Order: sequence, then C-alpha cells, then structure tokens
Amino acid sequence: MSESLKNKYKYDVVVIGGGHAGCEAALVSAKMGCSTLLVTTTIKKIATMPCNPAIGGPGKGHLVREIDCLGGAMAKVSDQSLIQIKLLNHTKGPAVQAYRAQIERDDYQKIMLETLKKLKKLKILEDEVTDIDAANNPKTITGVKTKSGKRIECGATIITTGTFLNAKIIIGDKIIRKGGRIDENGSYQLSNSLNKIGLKLEKLQTATPPRIDKKSVDCSKMEIQPGTKGPCSFSFPEREVIKYNKQIPCWLAYTNPKTHKIINENINYSPIKSGIIEEHGPRHCPSIDRKVVNFPNKERHPIFVEPEGRKSNRLYLQGLTTAMPEDLQLKIIRSVKGMEKAIILQPGYAVVYDYVPSWQIKKNLETKKIKGLFLAGQVNGTSGYEEAAAQGIMAGINAALKIKNKKPFILNRNQAYIGVMIDDLITKKHKEPYRVYTSAAEYRLLLRQDNADERLIDLAFNLGLVDKKRKLAIENKRKKIDTAIKELKKIKINSKNAWSYLKRPEINIQKLFKITKNRTKKLKIESLSEEILNEVEILAKYEDYIKRQEQTVIKNISLENKKIPKINYDSVPGLKFVAKERLKEVKPISIGQASRIAEVTPADITTLLIFLEKIKRSQKIFKS
Ligand SMILES: Cc1cc2nc3c(=O)[nH]c(=O)nc-3n(C[C@H](O)[C@H](O)[C@H](O)COP(=O)(O)OP(=O)(O)OC[C@H]3O[C@@H](n4cnc5c(N)ncnc54)[C@H](O)[C@@H]3O)c2cc1C
Repeated sequence: MSESLKNKYKYDVVVIGGGHAGCEAALVSAKMGCSTLLVTTTIKKIATMPCNPAIGGPGKGHLVREIDCLGGAMAKVSDQSLIQIKLLNHTKGPAVQAYRAQIERDDYQKIMLETLKKLKKLKILEDEVTDIDAANNPKTITGVKTKSGKRIECGATIITTGTFLNAKIIIGDKIIRKGGRIDENGSYQLSNSLNKIGLKLEKLQTATPPRIDKKSVDCSKMEIQPGTKGPCSFSFPEREVIKYNKQIPCWLAYTNPKTHKIINENINYSPIKSGIIEEHGPRHCPSIDRKVVNFPNKERHPIFVEPEGRKSNRLYLQGLTTAMPEDLQLKIIRSVKGMEKAIILQPGYAVVYDYVPSWQIKKNLETKKIKGLFLAGQVNGTSGYEEAAAQGIMAGINAALKIKNKKPFILNRNQAYIGVMIDDLITKKHKEPYRVYTSAAEYRLLLRQDNADERLIDLAFNLGLVDKKRKLAIENKRKKIDTAIKELKKIKINSKNAWSYLKRPEINIQKLFKITKNRTKKLKIESLSEEILNEVEILAKYEDYIKRQEQTVIKNISLENKKIPKINYDSVPGLKFVAKERLKEVKPISIGQASRIAEVTPADITTLLIFLEKIKRSQKIFKS
C-alpha cells in the first residue's frame, strides 16, 4: 500500500462526482497507479442515465469506441447491459456509420459500480464536496472539503459535477424544487468556492421527456423498431454481446394535428414562452413545444418509444421533450396513437445549472488558473453521457500524468473525435450545451468507428492503459486487413484486379466473392470475420478520399507545429480588437488552433505570423 493510501484523507487524485465523466476519470486514474478517491453524493446513483436510456449514435458511438481503446469502461459496460443495438446510417458513408444501443439502465449502474469497486487503488466516498482548497503563487490545488467535515488532501482534483451546481428543476411556469435531477439534490456551495478561486461560472439548461408506463400503452399501434442483425458491439475484442433474437424492440409513434393543437393552445405554460427559463438549452434536442412553434406546417413529429430496460416498466419518449405542466403533458401524450390511456411515471422537466465556460481550461482539461484542477463532463458545458465519459477519461489520464510529473496526453483533431471535441471546447465559443457531431470532424473519413482501435492502440499501450494481449489482437487485425488487400490486388477480374473492382458502387465484398467463386482455390479473405471484411471494403471504396484527407493532415500539421509563445496580444500591431480579445481568452498554443477561433480571420493569422517572425528574428539578432 502506498504511503498516501495509509492515510485515508490523503490521495493523489480526488474525483468529484460519480456521473459518466467521474466514473471514467476515477477508473483510469486508479488504473494508472494513483491513489484515487471518488466522492459522490449518492453511491447508488453512480453512472445514472437521467435522460435517454441509450449509448452511442453518430459521433457519440465513435467516442465510445475511443474510450474503449483508451482502457475506459463505457463500451464494455454498455455491451454487458444492452437490450438492443443498431448500426445507424448503414446505407450512408462509413464516416457516419455508428452503433447505438438501448441500455438496461439499472444494470448499467450496477455493472459500472462493480467495475469501479474492483480497482484496488480506488476508494468511493458518499459525501458532497463543498470547497476546493488551493495554495497561492502559483495557484495550485491542495485538497477539498466535504459537507460532513472531511478535509482531503490531494495532488490533483477532477470536478465532474454534471447538472448539479446551483441546480433547480422546472416544470411549467414554476421552479418546483432545488435539485440536480428530479429525484436528487443539487450541490449549492461548490459554485461559490469555484468563484473564489478565480473561475467564472455561467448557466445552461437541459430538459428530458416524460416517462410512461409500458403497461398503459398499445405498442401494436406503433411501428416496430428492431435492432441490427450481425455482430455489433462497442468494445474490442471481447464482443460478448447478446444475440439478435434476445434483443427487444423499440417503437416509433408520431404526434398529430390534435397534439399540436393542445400545445399551441397552451403554449404560454411552456417554459419557452413563460420566460422562466432564460438559459440556453441543447438546440440538437429541442422540446416538442419548440418544434411545434418553429415548424407550424409540419403535420407530425416522430416519437421514438424506448424501453428503459427489459425489467423496467418505464418507456422513454424520445422526441417528446417538454417541461409543460404535468396535466398538459398527459394530454399531449394521450393524443398520440397507441398512448390514449398512457400513465405518466415521471413528468418531463428542465434543469438549470451552473457550468464553467470551457475557455478556462487547457487541452489536457486542466484549468488555466489553478494547477492540478481538472474539469470534465457537463460542467464544461457539454451534453451527453459519451461526451462526459470521453472527457472523464482524458482528465483522469492527465491528472495521473500530472501526479507522475509526466507530459500531458493530448489527442489531436486528426487522431480522435475526443481530440475534435476538446479542441472545439477550448477554442470555440458555445452558447448552448456542446455535443459531438460527425460534421464537426474535418478528417472524419480517418476517424471511423471501425478503425478507432488501430488509431489509438499504440498511444494507449504506451500509457499502460491496455495490456499486451489487446495490443497484439489489434495488430493481428491490422495484419489480416493488409493481407486481404494484398490478396485482392493479385486477383484478376476481367482486366482489373479485385481491389479496383470492389471500388464500384454496385459491388460489395459478398458480391465480389460470388464473382470469384468459380476459382479453383477459395480466397483466404473469405474466412475473415464480417468486421474485418467490412473494413477492407471501406478501405477499397474510399481509398482516394482517405488518401486526400491524409495529405490534408500533413499540410495542416505545419500550422499545428507553429507554436505561439507567451505574447502580449495587445502589442501585436494590426490585429483586430475582437481577435485580440478572443486570443487573450483562448491563449492558443499554435497557429493551427488560433486559425480555428471563429473571431480570428485569415488576415489576423497573417498579421500574427508576421509578428511571430519578427520576434524570432529579433531573438536571433539578440542571441548573436
Ligand atoms: C434533465 C436532464 C436532461 C438531459 N438531457 C440531455 C439531452 O437532451 N441530451 C444529452 O445528451 N444529455 C442530456 N442529459 C445530460 C446527461 O445526463 C449528461 O450529459 C451526463 O450525465 C453528464 O455526465 P457528467 O458525468 O458530466 O455528470 P452527471 O451525470 O450529471 O453526474 C454528476 C455527478 O456528480 C455528483 N455531484 C454533483 N455535485 C457534487 C458534489 N459537490 N460533491 C460530490 N458529488 C457531486 C452527482 O451526484 C452526480 O453523480 C440530461 C440530463 C438531465 C438531468
């Protein structure tokens, strides 16, 4: 046992909050050998999914794969607790294809807690952190204080408080109670402490739809939504996913003119009209009230009816987010075909909470102001379990590296969606909760979910996050792909080789096998798994595009390599005021990053480059 573990109030790393960010952060910090304490208000609520009972989707599914490659838990826990899994966008290009799984909510929490409890270096404490202690000159984290009066010393702290800081719950035109979620208290002292140590806080809001009783609806009046046949899973290489025939379906229902009439007639009770919520919410997930108002000519809006589990009676109504008064919610729901007798088990509600705008953090998720203080998840202004978990794992890795006096671990935009998300967070201004989209990634053909393991395995192995067995398995996969490509290039079909033939839009790998089936010898490639064949096909069909993106990466690397030293932007002649202000706020580390700041124009970049060149020359003259 390390010296620090003997004293239960002294840890290398303290993680505040047991949501999706906190779980991954605590797990990876402990895995990297740091004595870690996870302090969370309610242990049995660890890894709760307060919104949809689903993990994945385009962008989000990519994040889950990347978390898995970095040794995180979300992918494995999802695979063990899913009740249905789908490959989304399978008819579209490979860059946007992604898995999305329906999850047995309670199982997810239970399995995550068991996973955390297995880690020797991790302790879990049920308490609320009220204060952050930091020493001055330079401002450095020294510990935290809790509501029950404990003072815990630490070398690094990761705040992952989600929607809980100064949170209030709203239904209709009323704040119905203080709380971080409908059935949980919020955290009302920590914001003050964060202000005191120099962080600026602002407010955001998010909302969730009502849950209804499965026994009170007639799903036969809705469209059935089955899962995908075939091997689907988030984690690699375990692939222990339930069989297709054991999966359970979701359903699709629609609003109708009657639903819209109820909403329009009562719109003044909607928080969007009553003015009770002024904070920005996620535009990607608008309330049904907003959809009806904004699209008056639309005759129906889809409602995806998703079970919260095999054992649960609760149905989640995706697409029907609303925080209207509960009696109106019931009227709205009962206007939908199949839901005429629906019973609400939990009303839809909105939550308004404090967050820390993310220009205050660096690429390693450490705050710029306080050394050793890291932020991850919804507290950084993001939305979503996957976004939170991905930041959690990065904050956990970087906190552990800080303790070990090692260089930060940064993923770039051409390496991972995690890199895209963090760069977006710290470089761009966000008025609403940030979520990951495939459209945010300029190199999305390189950042596919099928190659996440190949992209990240070396980095993960070097950090000690995954074992040799996994590294070998992924290297083996890569070898099989290379051998398959070589084989295809040798086979002649008419005047072409099979590899070029596979590029044709009407040819897929199975059709190719049929064309070549009269050969005396069976192709070696035919014995490969569906997953590998799928990747081979993608590499053939998109070879030229992939090459082009790789060339762009090389071109842009020179901008990323042009580092910006500490400079006084006010002294840069010709730089526009708005650009100066944002550059002072973001403090970009490279010209590449500076060029992604919306307020910094190409002309500002040229001005900056000329200025940096002048500094460089004068330094040379000075030295000589
Ligand atoms: C009403 C609602 C609607 C949502 N809608 C959406 C949506 O539309 N789309 C979407 O993608 N996501 C949505 N989510 C967000 C999703 O739940 C979060 O993005 C995700 O859970 C964030 O993970 P996190 O780890 O950052 O924080 P959370 O999951 O919120 O976890 C925070 C944890 O910190 C603990 N904690 C807080 N303060 C303290 C403290 N001082 N001391 C100790 N422990 C503390 C809490 O108990 C909790 O366990 C919604 C959430 C809510 C509540």
